[in-house]
Amino acid sequence: MRIVIVGAGISGLSVAYRLQQRMPMAAITVLEQADRPGGTTWTVRENGFLVETGPNGFLDTKPTTLTLARDVGLAAQLVDASEAAGKNRYLFHGDRLKALPGGLGEFLSTNLLSWRGKLSLLWERFRKQRTETDDESIDAFARRRAGNEAADLFADALVTGIYAGDPKLLSLPACFPRIVELERVYGSVIKGFAAEAKKRRAEAKAQGVAYERPGKMRSFADGLRVLVEGVTAKLNAAPIYGVGVRAIRKSGDPQHPVWRVEAEGRDGWDADAVVLTCPAHQQMKLLADLDADLAQSIGTIAYNRVAVIALGYRRADVTMPLDGFGYIAPENARRDLLGVQWCSSIYPQRAPDGCVLLRAMCGGWHRADVVDWDDARLLSAIRAELRLAMNITADPIFHKIIRWDKAIPQYHLGHLARVAQIEARLAQHPGLWLAGNAYHGVSLNDCTEQGAVIAERVQRMAL
Ligand SMILES: Cc1cc2nc3c(=O)[nH]c(=O)nc-3n(C[C@H](O)[C@H](O)[C@H](O)COP(=O)(O)OP(=O)(O)OC[C@H]3O[C@@H](n4cnc5c(N)ncnc54)[C@H](O)[C@@H]3O)c2cc1C
Repeated sequence: MRIVIVGAGISGLSVAYRLQQRMPMAAITVLEQADRPGGTTWTVRENGFLVETGPNGFLDTKPTTLTLARDVGLAAQLVDASEAAGKNRYLFHGDRLKALPGGLGEFLSTNLLSWRGKLSLLWERFRKQRTETDDESIDAFARRRAGNEAADLFADALVTGIYAGDPKLLSLPACFPRIVELERVYGSVIKGFAAEAKKRRAEAKAQGVAYERPGKMRSFADGLRVLVEGVTAKLNAAPIYGVGVRAIRKSGDPQHPVWRVEAEGRDGWDADAVVLTCPAHQQMKLLADLDADLAQSIGTIAYNRVAVIALGYRRADVTMPLDGFGYIAPENARRDLLGVQWCSSIYPQRAPDGCVLLRAMCGGWHRADVVDWDDARLLSAIRAELRLAMNITADPIFHKIIRWDKAIPQYHLGHLARVAQIEARLAQHPGLWLAGNAYHGVSLNDCTEQGAVIAERVQRMAL
């Protein structure tokens, strides 16, 4: 069987590796437009600083990325985020950084919320369960369950930190399906979290192992590029780089078509199955001639724009302890950045001795214009932000700017219905599969999970 995978980001690589395991006799070809694998997931080392261009790690809340890393022999290179990074996160609020509460006890003592706000949040346990089945925005959900004050503060911060999006537009069931499930099963999210933690503690006790709270972040000593290169190295055939696929066509028996993958200025590739893992706007273009309606639906999935600005400083020039993950500047704080990760406090060896590495994120759904600022203006704005929030007045000794024009897909209201419609339409195109972060989750874990799911489906089709 001939299978062509378009895109060698973490999604494409996961599909390729899992397919190779399931179908060792298949001829699997991965086509990648760039001159390297990884897509947004990549790491560069410059002047002794280790900079992630996109994601910073993956959580242990789903096992798929960790399993992939172990399966390709990378277990020894894994590193955990520091304990401080796991515990301490900050919010830019009222012109300074304030600790984000980590548990219910800390919520009660935080000065981020008034007493009225705290009571409203605590009352979540007793609020009526939602019975409507239509979509709900993250903002509407947070207001309904936790009250306006907590919604203004935390829904915005959560959405800024993960999606760099708008909580009023993002769909809760599409972005945070587990939260919906907790309300459905336990009647309350707080009750649900408590019940699940209790269950996990009991399981740990029964197995005689220490209980660890989920939510730990992981990476590799030399950054996430290790995962990308590790999976790539295990493929029987390396991805073919510099191939920008332009169109997908089919011919022959409608039930068992021959697929033709065309790239600009290159011969095409014939295949029995094609898996598209490039971003939605690219998938739309590739499918435009094959199925205009399908392409149009895919094209409605929006993306934000993000600029990543890595800054290296001498440790002595930063007076703050940097005892945590970093801080978020929520949309309602109206700042020129979305937040700053304290990279050298999260993982070891991200900066040379005596130095620290910070990574500021800019743009997002509301401030896409910032991504267009030239380097000098961007740097000057970030330095002003760091002066205000972290009291850093010194010049950085290193900087690197990365711009993502299509960074993170935004699962807006109606996303799940749209995906269901897209997937139903795919039934008319046997052998064509759609994957990547546009559909079922944007995290690395979601992408590696989808990779395994699609591989299983392709194999099933072949049987
Ligand atoms: C700034 C940033 C920070 C993030 N932080 C985190 C984090 O900390 N943790 C986390 O879990 N997730 C994070 N994410 C999300 C996560 O990184 C992505 O969702 C994930 O890497 C997407 O992988 P992908 O393979 O689906 O897509 P991509 O990485 O976009 O890969 C798609 C590939 O397709 C190729 N391609 C495009 N068009 C064509 C074409 N026509 N022909 C051939 N090839 C083509 C591209 O060159 C690319 O290599 C972050 C994302 C960004 C942008």
